Amino acid sequence: MITFFRLLRIIIFAVLFYLLFKNLYKIFWKHKRPNLFTNKKNKPPQIKEEQMKKDPICGTYIPESQAIKYKHENEVLFFCSENCKEKFLKSEKNR
Ligand SMILES: [Zn+2]
Repeated sequence: MITFFRLLRIIIFAVLFYLLFKNLYKIFWKHKRPNLFTNKKNKPPQIKEEQMKKDPICGTYIPESQAIKYKHENEVLFFCSENCKEKFLKSEKNR
């Protein structure tokens, strides 16, 4: 019977160690993943070096990729929203 309990204890310890390492691995993986993948996805060099464009209507600075572009007299204007673009177009008509 002694050997049976020894074996049982070894099995219990083995299961406990397995669960412990499984959890440690999960924690490790969760902590490490943002550094390896998410940061690279969130901060590609393009966005870092992206130029901020000024909205001529409201004066807001918008990243070039998110701005509404409008070609006007050989220059490209950048607007924060369709509203600002429309305001600009209206003011151009009134001139
Ligand atoms: Zn605007």
